[in-house]
Amino acid sequence: MTIAPTIGVFALQGDVREHVRALEAVGAKAVAVRRPAELEAVDGLIIPGGESTTMWKLAETFELLEPLRMRIKSGMPAYGSCAGMIMLADRIEGGIEGQQTIGGIDMVVRRNAFGRQVDSFEADIDFAGRGEMRAIFIRAPWVESMGSDVEVLARAEPGDRIVAVRQGPLLATSFHPELTGDVGVHSYFAEMVREF
Ligand code: GLN
Repeated sequence: MTIAPTIGVFALQGDVREHVRALEAVGAKAVAVRRPAELEAVDGLIIPGGESTTMWKLAETFELLEPLRMRIKSGMPAYGSCAGMIMLADRIEGGIEGQQTIGGIDMVVRRNAFGRQVDSFEADIDFAGRGEMRAIFIRAPWVESMGSDVEVLARAEPGDRIVAVRQGPLLATSFHPELTGDVGVHSYFAEMVREF
């Protein structure tokens, strides 16, 4: 595809503006998604960092949860960072009572996993074999376990934990690439959207 893909950013909660900026930096057209009609119009979607319990509740209130599940089921590429990783997990640990996700990636994600050791930290990681990248973790989750269709794209200390995964058109990272100015993950995702 030579035309720039249109990539939405789930915009009911989270660090939306930073993702919009990173998408524009890699040549994608970025739009905010708050309504089902806006979701219909995008080629792919980013679910930002923020607070997954609030995202879930707002998505229900704004009648976006089911449309999100439908589009992901029908193969729309999506990328979730931090809280967004939680939203893309089929199963979570450490959620609040009744907490739901959009789902799509066959994995168990533990909320606030690193938080028990350190609240926020930075680490150099190797993302998808693309060389070293600075990663910022803020009350970050990690991937506790996953199915055989899920590919590990990055691990991080402490604990050599799984912090980036991909399953087909779905990508998730525990960290916040939108906060570092390194657009490697966004360019990887824009490439995924072009391919699908
Ligand atoms: N701990 C948050 C949650 O559970 C995620 C933190 C983040 O996105 N920086 O949603």
